[in-house]
Amino acid sequence: MSTTGTTSVACPQCGAKSEVKVFKTVNVTTDRNFREQLLSGEMLHFTCPSCGHEAELRYPLLYNDINNKFMVYFVPDVDRDKVTDEALEKEYGDLAGIRRRLVGDYNELKEKIHIFESGLDDRVIEVVKAALKDIVQKRTGDTVTGGYLSKYSVSEDRIGFTFFVGENHEQFVQTTRLEIYDKSAAVAKAVKEDENDRSFRAVNREWARNALYQYKKSKV
Ligand SMILES: [Zn+2]
Repeated sequence: MSTTGTTSVACPQCGAKSEVKVFKTVNVTTDRNFREQLLSGEMLHFTCPSCGHEAELRYPLLYNDINNKFMVYFVPDVDRDKVTDEALEKEYGDLAGIRRRLVGDYNELKEKIHIFESGLDDRVIEVVKAALKDIVQKRTGDTVTGGYLSKYSVSEDRIGFTFFVGENHEQFVQTTRLEIYDKSAAVAKAVKEDENDRSFRAVNREWARNALYQYKKSKV
């Protein structure tokens, strides 16, 4: 089941306060159309009843897809790589084999959904992304500020990412062959996982950097 609540939002334009419906949990196993509403941005869209100003809301939300065996906890601007939530643990703690992820950014949330729905391993994806990011940085001679999975095609034998380059965050697409994904699995596996850990963990650029470090260390 999905759960909702209400919160008071002050309009960034006119300052008027209004009560808006917010989602605490989005369960797409039972409410499939919520997936579309979240991915399209409709779920987080705010229209001020006083002045009509439109804005995007950001608040903590748990995305739940048990069929695809994953949960993503979206905590805007989270500054930790792990959160433990006792109430959530009580509710979902007995679910074994469910990947629990923590993201601090809406685009990251969408990327996780895309990755898991495609049957991919997000840890391996982060390792591939880190390697391609270095290539893009060399090719453009500029700083890459971020990137997300934007292509995965078995028939074309391609996996690719859209990166944001330089001050203006210009988009740069870099793809590679799928064998790179398979080869990167060994690096991702270098990070030891605790099967009993029920917390929500960040699997991102820092995670990939640590995985690469662990991998190199194990080869010495
Ligand atoms: Zn307003």
